[in-house]
Amino acid sequence: MAEAAKKNGHIVMIPFMAHGHIIPFLQLARQIQHKTTLNITIANTPLNIQYLRSALSSTSPHQIRLAELHFDPTQHGLPPNVENTEKLPLSHIAKFFNSSLSLEAPLRSLIAQITEEEGYPPLCLISDVFLGWVNSVATSLGIRNLCFTTCGAYGTLAYISIWSNLPHRKTDSDEFWVPGFPQNYRFHRTQLHKFIRQADGTDEWSQFFIPQIALSMNSDGWICNTVEEIEPLGLQLLRKYVQRPVWTVGPLLPSAKGSKHRAGKESGIALEACMEWLDLKDENSVVYVSFGSQNTISASQMMALAEGLEESGRSFIWVVRPPVGFDIDGEFKEEWLPKGFEERMRDTEKGLLVRKWGPQLEILSHKSTGVFLSHCGWNSVLESLSNGVPLIGWPLAAEQAYNVKMLVEEMGVAVELARTVESTITGEVVAKVIDIVMDNGKGKDMKDRANEIAAHMRDATTEKGEEKGSSVRAMDDLVTTILSPKPL
Ligand code: UDP
Repeated sequence: MAEAAKKNGHIVMIPFMAHGHIIPFLQLARQIQHKTTLNITIANTPLNIQYLRSALSSTSPHQIRLAELHFDPTQHGLPPNVENTEKLPLSHIAKFFNSSLSLEAPLRSLIAQITEEEGYPPLCLISDVFLGWVNSVATSLGIRNLCFTTCGAYGTLAYISIWSNLPHRKTDSDEFWVPGFPQNYRFHRTQLHKFIRQADGTDEWSQFFIPQIALSMNSDGWICNTVEEIEPLGLQLLRKYVQRPVWTVGPLLPSAKGSKHRAGKESGIALEACMEWLDLKDENSVVYVSFGSQNTISASQMMALAEGLEESGRSFIWVVRPPVGFDIDGEFKEEWLPKGFEERMRDTEKGLLVRKWGPQLEILSHKSTGVFLSHCGWNSVLESLSNGVPLIGWPLAAEQAYNVKMLVEEMGVAVELARTVESTITGEVVAKVIDIVMDNGKGKDMKDRANEIAAHMRDATTEKGEEKGSSVRAMDDLVTTILSPKPL
């Protein structure tokens, strides 16, 4: 290793193996790299490193290193070549989470190699909130460990507290209080994914999440992909709950320039064709529909959604994937949509169906896009709000339902349409909700608030001489902390 590398110090970053985690980790790495001369290595399984390599190669020159950690999915009862949640049926997800524990030995070898080559161990391990075991590695080697939650503060708190306390198991009521939130706050059973609803501490989900979250709570501090000014309540509560510093360095958004290969994914439509389609539409007139990188809805919901989009009479772009129960990566069959739907939408130029993966950031930043019908994964939320686009929430898994609760109750920038793949929806309800968000009354209020949030996000990341936004200051402080000796 070069002499310079020895002097600079090293950070090793370990994201969970999902695009919604890998993309913000990469952005965090870029920001730290921009501020320091530290060596940064992102460690992950070979196929995810391949994604990262193509994401990095499509943007500006970089010095972020990538390290492959040996991983064999078949040893964990997973199909070959499955190293990311994107291709996983729901039935395999718990196995997949558990399989991440096998990365401990290869991570220890990587750290030993860095230590040997540079003369001392890395300064810091930045690990995903789901990978609490990294904290044990860091502690045993005397290395600082920071936990990066790629979610917002409110969603993170709800997620970690519900797993740690299983509060819904302590009441017969559908509504329950979540420790860490004010006493008068209520969450609802329908906001829980069925795996957590059924969790009792002994099932394979609990056995992974409860200890991993407890270990992440031991880390030396938390990095959160949010902005101080947009989540005041969530941040105040999260800080109190974890009793650790929380750095708000968001929004960490993927760079639009690299979108052709964002996280190594090819879009199902040429960017130019998509932009030309949007150029022909009126300002704020298009509904963009997407459920993130790994989720899909049920066949009956898909039918109702198509009917509702058509009934609404609005223009839309919809990233379509096979419904639940079919290979999410397989071919899309016309029979999943109303008869003649795609043809009609094409002929009337009302709807653009994009297969599997769309250029999301570019769609959301186009002036014609008026609302985002989304599962409300945190990256999608940030990407939407940073462009002043209000949302229609349809949470499907993870902390998405808690994000929607905050978007509706705290921020006033969303309406909730459905919850999980279990909700029964009709075309009529879909069309009605689209009307609410796009009309001039309530819809205008939501748009105004989304624009205010976009302004906060811009200010937070702005640096004009001595004047620095909150996320710039947090990033400075984070770097100072990483460079300072770890307290004994
Ligand atoms: N994404 C995209 N095109 C798609 C679907 C997803 O570019 O068709 C990107 C999206 O811009 C976001 C990420 O994938 O950066 C999805 O992250 P999110 O947290 O919203 O949801 P997750 O996929 O983790 O459920």
